[in-house]
Amino acid sequence: MIYFLGPCAAETYDQVMTTARLLSEQLDGDHLYIYRAGVWKPRTSPDTFQGVGAEALQWLTEVKRIYGMPVATEVATPEHVRLALEAGIDYLWIGARTSANPIAVQAIADELKAKGQQPKAVLIKNPVNEDAALWLGNIARLEQAGVAVMAVHRGCGHRPCWGMAHRVRTERPDIPMLLDPSHLTGDAALVPDMLLRVAELGLDGAMIEVHCSPETALSDARQQITPAALHATLYTLHHTPYTLHHTPNTIHHTPTPLTWYRAEIDELDDQLWDILLRRLEVCERIGEWKRANAVAPFQPERFEQLVRDRLKWGSANGISSETIRTILSAIHEESLRRQ
Ligand code: PEP
Ligand code: MN
Repeated sequence: MIYFLGPCAAETYDQVMTTARLLSEQLDGDHLYIYRAGVWKPRTSPDTFQGVGAEALQWLTEVKRIYGMPVATEVATPEHVRLALEAGIDYLWIGARTSANPIAVQAIADELKAKGQQPKAVLIKNPVNEDAALWLGNIARLEQAGVAVMAVHRGCGHRPCWGMAHRVRTERPDIPMLLDPSHLTGDAALVPDMLLRVAELGLDGAMIEVHCSPETALSDARQQITPAALHATLYTLHHTPYTLHHTPNTIHHTPTPLTWYRAEIDELDDQLWDILLRRLEVCERIGEWKRANAVAPFQPERFEQLVRDRLKWGSANGISSETIRTILSAIHEESLRRQ
């Protein structure tokens, strides 16, 4: 298995070194472990920590020198590629925001092609939006530059996109695929369970954000785990025959499409129930408004309109009127209870 482990961002020399020391004390020799840290951070707001910049590349090469781990950083421009390779960074990754922009990916690929010196591999995350074709196109752009490529499924927002990952895995089974449970969930508490999907889906490894003191992190504080938590999580992944989600499997199996489809169903069910909850919350607001304005909770003509619209939609999509009525009635009953 291949693991990229380390903080979201290199913040200080001490934070980079402490995290590396705590990690290296725990890692076995059975897998490939690479230290990751971002030095140029693609942040949403210009008023937050943007990364230390090129200066922190030296901290990564110190990690390599002292702890013997290969190192990785994120690149978003040809200039980043040049600086990272000159500093001796072993692996580069292209983040989800850059992956959404083919012109930026091509500029990086062109720089890699022009460079004599090559990274050990370039990791390409899925684009921020669900777009398997763009992800595959980015893989092709990097391959045309002559570099080894790995794909990283980091989900869209803080949710997985198993359908997209399955398509890329099916079309390019020759490219290693890693899971990034940190960005995919956005929540440190969810990282251990999500990581088990690596075994379930027969992926090749993971990129996991690990910080010596996550609560003080300058970016992605909620999703980073401690080196101790990482150790426990990897132990579970490596020593438990895989039993979650139906079939007992040991790791390194080749999953059937059914395993992927079930992951996709779980993802869609999460969204379905989440939408249902949000709908009920709107119903509560409607209830408050109706009470304040002396309007009866049940408005038959409104409900009949909803049923008519949905029946039309159902017949266009091959869903029986009985199913439509059953589901709508159940939702409506619960909505009225909330009003
Ligand atoms: C990261 O790995 O720190 C990062 C910015 O990830 P992503 O591009 O997936 O958001
Ligand atoms: Mn991050």
